[in-house]
Amino acid sequence: METPVPPVAVTTRTALGKEPIHRKSADFRLEPDSIRESGFLFGAPLMTLHDKFGRQITDLRISVTDRCNFRCVYCRSADPENYREHEQILSWPELERLARIFVDLGIQKIRITGGEPLVREGAEGYIRKLRELGVPDISMTTNGHLLAQRLPSLIAAGLHRINISLDSLDPIKFEKITRTRTYDSVMRGIDAVQNSALAPAKINAVLVRGFNEDEVEAFGAFARDRGVIMRFIEFMPLDADRHWSRELMVPAEEVHRRIHAQWPLVQIPHAKSETARKYKFANGAPGEIGLIAPVTQPFCGHCSRIRLTADGKVRTCLFSKDDHDLRALLRNGASDHDIEERIRAVVDEKEAGHRINEPGFQPPSRTMVFIGG
Ligand code: SAM
Repeated sequence: METPVPPVAVTTRTALGKEPIHRKSADFRLEPDSIRESGFLFGAPLMTLHDKFGRQITDLRISVTDRCNFRCVYCRSADPENYREHEQILSWPELERLARIFVDLGIQKIRITGGEPLVREGAEGYIRKLRELGVPDISMTTNGHLLAQRLPSLIAAGLHRINISLDSLDPIKFEKITRTRTYDSVMRGIDAVQNSALAPAKINAVLVRGFNEDEVEAFGAFARDRGVIMRFIEFMPLDADRHWSRELMVPAEEVHRRIHAQWPLVQIPHAKSETARKYKFANGAPGEIGLIAPVTQPFCGHCSRIRLTADGKVRTCLFSKDDHDLRALLRNGASDHDIEERIRAVVDEKEAGHRINEPGFQPPSRTMVFIGG
């Protein structure tokens, strides 16, 4: 099921990832915001999901596996992790049934994630099913290692958008962060997207002090030279080793200041529920910069997202203290109506916001790889 990547031995300088490791490690698209605002799809009223604060939930991130072929220092541990047994992970038919129920409840955007979604065979078949369900916006987040060879089949299946994680433009540093030797294949994946109908590629970088914060300007130049959308995500307390600290995080404001000093930026309007603040280059150069600041500028008040984990739990916030199980319902004969009612009840109780900036904040029980980013 898992596709191996070349092993690499790494020793790093900071607390994060310090352990040496030796192991294998559409053409036709509706604009979701306009659908949301109109409340109608093809003339029929939409069912909608709301929480008790009145936020409409339209975006679902589905983790299709908890396995990953990378071991990024800000996400996973160098130590072996307890992946769930295969039978604990939802089967494709179970995932299809849940997708249909969520779509009936008004979900308009589905992002397939993991773990690494491309290590599980069958992503294309799942995308095809989502397209048949009429999901207006189908996207994927991937580390890009297996992307170059899979992109044509993903696009043929109906994928609308793709995000690729890339945390360094320096192959040596890339190895230190991902603890794999896969820089070239990830670059080939980005090239493939740039030469496809999904261009421009959206690239996600998590900056961590002591690892890659010196690459802000290099990433800015990469956005301009390659015409890609370069998005910087603030490091969140979701790493398996629990090494997160405010000092290790590079605030979005710092990234903006540094890129703006070199190439003045102009803000682009964005939908309220969008996570990224978007900027273009003032001199008209290609490329775009996105800043995602969940820690320093939380956007919980406009959150429209929920998540489904690979083992069938709904999470209403990345930082939720509780999961809400759908797998037992699926496997114990619950009707679609029962499952819908459960989802509605869970969404109603969605947290007002994460509490990262509040005294006594406790990181959630699940780390990113077991949630699905
Ligand atoms: N394997 C895929 C990938 O690498 O993109 C999808 C899963 S990964 C968990 C999804 C996103 O979460 C990636 O963009 C990754 O950089 C981000 N991520 C993981 N841990 C994070 C953390 N502690 N803080 C901020 N972003 C994180």
